[in-house]
Amino acid sequence: MSKSYNPHEEILRIVDQAAALLGLEKRDYIQLKSPERELKVSVPVRMDDGSIQVFEGYRVQHSGVRGPYKGGTRYHQNVDMDEVKALAAAMTFKCAVVDIPYGGGKGGITVDATKLSKAELERLTRKYTTLLYPIVGPHIDIPAPDVNTNDEVMAWFMDTYSILNGQLTLAVVTGKPVPLGGSLGRSEATGRGIMLTAREIARKVGLDLKGARVAVQGAGNVGGTAARFLHREGCQVVAISDVSGAVYKEDGLDIEEIWSFLRAERGRLLKDYDAPGLSRISNTELLQLQVDILVPAALENAITAENAPHIKAQIVLEGANGPTTADADNILAERGITVVPDILTNAGGVVVSYFEWLQNLQSVKWEEDEINRKLEYTMVKAFHDVWNMAEQAGTSLRMGAYMLALDRIVTASKLRGVTF
Ligand code: GLU
Repeated sequence: MSKSYNPHEEILRIVDQAAALLGLEKRDYIQLKSPERELKVSVPVRMDDGSIQVFEGYRVQHSGVRGPYKGGTRYHQNVDMDEVKALAAAMTFKCAVVDIPYGGGKGGITVDATKLSKAELERLTRKYTTLLYPIVGPHIDIPAPDVNTNDEVMAWFMDTYSILNGQLTLAVVTGKPVPLGGSLGRSEATGRGIMLTAREIARKVGLDLKGARVAVQGAGNVGGTAARFLHREGCQVVAISDVSGAVYKEDGLDIEEIWSFLRAERGRLLKDYDAPGLSRISNTELLQLQVDILVPAALENAITAENAPHIKAQIVLEGANGPTTADADNILAERGITVVPDILTNAGGVVVSYFEWLQNLQSVKWEEDEINRKLEYTMVKAFHDVWNMAEQAGTSLRMGAYMLALDRIVTASKLRGVTF
């Protein structure tokens, strides 16, 4: 991430605009301008060669107004406090958009996870958990997976927390493996939510998803799963990328084959995938393809003022958190491109995290059909709430989403009152 760009400042600017449109006074929402709690930890890890490396870790609890803090844990070399603060704030608004009873939080470690062995990752996760132990818990702050963390990492987190807590505490994290308190449908939930959002927006703008051309930036759990679900809806996924570059096929890629190839072993990359008729393009070229739907599902700052003038998609569905800079957002709006914002589009993950947490707290197991039905209901309702808000206020969908969320948070906050 370029350091001139501060994602936390960008969110705060959107919140100010949303507040002005709602007619809120500063005193109504000033508490949302800085996180309630920021923790920075140093995580010493014994590496496989016997040396000790110290990694920087974070957990930011942005707002607990509507419920316990909730949000993922990111392992990436670019993680820093500003990024975690932005992502934590985004979680507060995301949980309010889909109206689940959580606040927002986020954690991360500055580490290139691809350079660590599995044993090193486990020791890193367990040490990080011990350092977070005083501030997390099933009714306090509930982490989950994010970039480069998965169900296995959540299992280590849960196990370490449980040892320290003296009892099995499944509900302390979500996104766990299904045999260990995880929920059916959780690993696909973000991708499924993106597909459901695509369906709703396509209806609104009169686009037929059958045969619609789609480009997806990112082939991880979010991008890869979204591509699979969109493919199943009849979309032609013509391009997909990962850190090693992008692949393109004019008449649509075999997304299931790509998914199986990438998942066959840890660290597999698209640069090693080949198929007849496939060509290799850059990430920049992928973003600028002639497609109906573009799904940026990698990291922040993907769509910028430089590439926004060249984007040809009709719809941008934000699978990643914060993929579009504020300048780029304005350019896309001027060019008539519909952007469906991250805090709505990718909320399926945290929605099913909520279902997982409910199951853990009640010691029950829901059927996958029931979970998918409830997810669909929640996503479709949120989509229409956002759409209606944006239409009433005559704003973008992003502003509509922030207005809807801010209104819910401020209402809860006023009901609670300022105690001190
Ligand atoms: N990391 C995901 C997100 O950004 C999921 C968070 C969660 O399930 O708590 O929404």
